Amino acid sequence: MTRAQEVLANLDVTTLWQEDLYKQFHAHPELSSQETATAAEIARRLGSLGYDVQSVGGGVVGVLTNGPGKTVLMRADIDALPVTELTDLPYASTDTAVDATGATVGVMHACGHDIHITCLLGAAELLAADRDAWGGTFVALFQPAEETAAGGKAMLADGLTGKVPRPDVAFGQHVLNHAAGVIGMQVGPVFSAGDSIKITVFGAGSHGSMPHLGVDPVVLAASIVLRLQTIVSREVKPGEFAVVTVGSSVAGTASNIIPDRAVLLVNLRTYDTGVRQRVVDSIERIVRAECEASGSPEPPTLEYYDQFPLTDNDPEVTAVVAEAFRAHFGEARVVELGRIPASEDFSRIPDAFGTPYTYWGLGGFSPEKPGPPNHSPFFAPLIQPTLRAGTEAIVVAVMAFLGKDG
Ligand code: ZN
Ligand code: ZN
Repeated sequence: MTRAQEVLANLDVTTLWQEDLYKQFHAHPELSSQETATAAEIARRLGSLGYDVQSVGGGVVGVLTNGPGKTVLMRADIDALPVTELTDLPYASTDTAVDATGATVGVMHACGHDIHITCLLGAAELLAADRDAWGGTFVALFQPAEETAAGGKAMLADGLTGKVPRPDVAFGQHVLNHAAGVIGMQVGPVFSAGDSIKITVFGAGSHGSMPHLGVDPVVLAASIVLRLQTIVSREVKPGEFAVVTVGSSVAGTASNIIPDRAVLLVNLRTYDTGVRQRVVDSIERIVRAECEASGSPEPPTLEYYDQFPLTDNDPEVTAVVAEAFRAHFGEARVVELGRIPASEDFSRIPDAFGTPYTYWGLGGFSPEKPGPPNHSPFFAPLIQPTLRAGTEAIVVAVMAFLGKDG
């Protein structure tokens, strides 16, 4: 028996309360940056397990020091989405909340973060219960506001790096609509970097019949939209990945008025920080040059928002964890995840410590019928084997670095 299997010998007991706790979190989700009841429940449970518990930036960190050895951090995100649940589960959420704009919205764990919380609390209990099997420090980090990309930043702004020991390695996991019990691993970039940019360009208003007395921002914006299409086709090296989408273009109110400004909302996805910088530089250059070409009376403004960093799995850490997963779960249950064009703010925290990391996918649905995508109002992972697999994965990955094997 390996030391990881020894720690997991109590999993049947953990599973009992995990299923109840999961249903409780699922029934009572909280929006990003409003996770007070969720965080309080996590802190209470970590405290009762003997962890040193701190509230940091709206999240919770539990540290368990168990003699000399490496430090390993596992992160779970804890927020839910403004989605009205449409499943018919007995533990479906009927809760509502007031969002940042003041609107009342339905709330749902439509991204499965309730699975992440419950698996990490389960692993925290198992590791605390068998301290002879391992040595070092385990950091269980519960992060708020992943969906808005604000939570990692908030924890760092609240001094996270000075409050917990620097991890030697960090992990994250996400439940996805793949077959339950199957783990997906990926070396290198796994989630894209995402940026949104609000671009405002200025014209000079005039009567629609007298264009020569104004500067038309509609023509200017149209020209920018077309020119932006040449970044991926002409500037990014063939074979490298980038997406530039103009998702919104708004100007003017009437056919006979030349307005004084136009606003473009641009979304950008990349898998490489060098490519990202190149695309950002190109967007800024094109916008400024087109404004110049139009005789725009004022420089344009570019506001960056909803920015997600690249999630780029360390090859060595990923290899160690994948080998441990294959030994534990068997070859058939450990697959290549592939790159996912969605984005995550997980990497901000390990990057702030300078810590290598790996982030894996956890299947949560019937192998016969693929589940709905994350964020769907029907997103309802199978409780088992998902909770067990997610808990086992954390213990096995942590024990690959802290276990007293051999
Ligand atoms: Zn999500
Ligand atoms: Zn998510």
